[in-house]
Amino acid sequence: MPDMSVKRNKMPLLDIEKRKTTYDEVALGYSEQDALSEASRCLNCKNMPCVNGCPVNIKIPDFISEIKNRNYEKAYEIIANASLLPAVCSRVCPQESQCESKCVRSIKSESVAIGRLERFVSDLHIKNAGSPSPTPSNGHKVAVIGSGPSGLTCAGALARKGYKVTVFEALHTAGGVLVYGIPEFRLPKEIVNKEIENLKKIGVEIRTNVIIGKTFTIDELMNEHGYEAVYVGSGAGLPNFMNIEGENLNGVYSANEFLTRINLMKAYMPESSTPIMRPEKTVVVGGGNVAMDAARCAKRLGSEVYVVYRRTEKELPARREEAEHAVEEGIIFNYLTSPVKITSNENGYVNGVICQRMELSQPDESGRARPVPIEGSEFTIEADCVIMAIGTSPNPLIRSTTPGLETNKKGGIITDNRTATSKDGVFAGGDAVTGSATVILAMGAGKEAADAIDKYITEKQGE
Ligand code: FAD
Ligand code: SF4
Repeated sequence: MPDMSVKRNKMPLLDIEKRKTTYDEVALGYSEQDALSEASRCLNCKNMPCVNGCPVNIKIPDFISEIKNRNYEKAYEIIANASLLPAVCSRVCPQESQCESKCVRSIKSESVAIGRLERFVSDLHIKNAGSPSPTPSNGHKVAVIGSGPSGLTCAGALARKGYKVTVFEALHTAGGVLVYGIPEFRLPKEIVNKEIENLKKIGVEIRTNVIIGKTFTIDELMNEHGYEAVYVGSGAGLPNFMNIEGENLNGVYSANEFLTRINLMKAYMPESSTPIMRPEKTVVVGGGNVAMDAARCAKRLGSEVYVVYRRTEKELPARREEAEHAVEEGIIFNYLTSPVKITSNENGYVNGVICQRMELSQPDESGRARPVPIEGSEFTIEADCVIMAIGTSPNPLIRSTTPGLETNKKGGIITDNRTATSKDGVFAGGDAVTGSATVILAMGAGKEAADAIDKYITEKQGE
């Protein structure tokens, strides 16, 4: 019987002092020895509970067995059968609440480090693999709107079936949140670019600087440009605000704007033409991955950083590892705290945030304990910068320019369980449907849509 108390192998990390000033990747990845030792902790359980915890059902024990046998490319193939961007997912998936939460080893000690093993295999593949080749064309054209993980997955899966796929991207660079939102120190852009280059090699065309709803409408793509189906993977890039006094002051950013300036436009580099404030004290409002990314970027700009979150550490929605890294880097967390007003100096620049203490009450509609303000508990955090990271919504442009496309109250496109929308030939998935969610769910929808589009076009042809 294996010793169930043996802990997981630690992830080697970049030195903390170096982290505060550079955007180099923080988690350095397992060595072969680490990976073999970690793989040996897997019990190869017959009922495979971890597989059910993975949204795309990667055959986890099978790929770990291949690592044990040092068949790393075979291990990669098993992962890649279910996930089209494994080097990305292994870095950003919230494994602790997915596959790893179901691992039987977590009952007595720590789960097998499934994500870290997936990363080891994927990185090795990227380093050693040759170029993929295109599938012979089947003569059918499909348009994909948005080059985030959902659009890229759908495009890749369709190209592998022989479709001629064009991805239309509003920004000048492909990758969606993977390039404009998630910072380099969590997800090196080299990894994302490599995955995108591979998609181009299998025949996917990516047209950047094209805004669907402005440059072309969906109806024009279908009626004038010959696309037989369209997949909408346009994400949820519209930032939410709290509607408190002072949100329009100088020094207040949405997390999306702040992160785009840093990650996409490299505003922290002296030679960048995009400006960014160099704050002394920053308050980041929110507790998700976006808040952690904004806080850690502000730290790297040289700021003292405070995260204010209205629930407790237990409810923090961010990946556990990101919150731990943020604490290590010196970010200060104010739990059970909510801003009520942002104050300014006489020139209209932020000089503080008035906050209120909260306590937890009965669960709200999301099932989480409801934060309730404690009367008379107001206090001020001095700050010259405030970053609002309290969620995003789908941009209304596509729904307002596409007659017949139904959306819900929150602006999400309504689909059936196979990603078909209310408009014939138009499919949708990812954050554009669910609102802000996760990379793996966005990819899952892209994959599902590719199958649904293939079926739709094949059936239409037979009519
Ligand atoms: P997106 O990635 O948003 O891509 C949509 C693309 O469509 C964008 O490139 C956009 O420019 C383009 N577009 C929009 N409108 C148009 C138009 N009209 N015409 C043409 N193009 C258009 N998830 C995790 O699982 N783990 C994490 O650690 C994590 N961290 C995150 C950190 C940040 C800062 C953010 C913002 C999100 C994070 N997420 C994380 C969430 C995850 O990134 C998203 O759920 C995922 O990217 C959604 O994928 P998508 O393809 O639906 O949309
Ligand atoms: Fe291995 Fe854990 Fe999955 Fe069991 S549950 S097969 S130990 S990863």
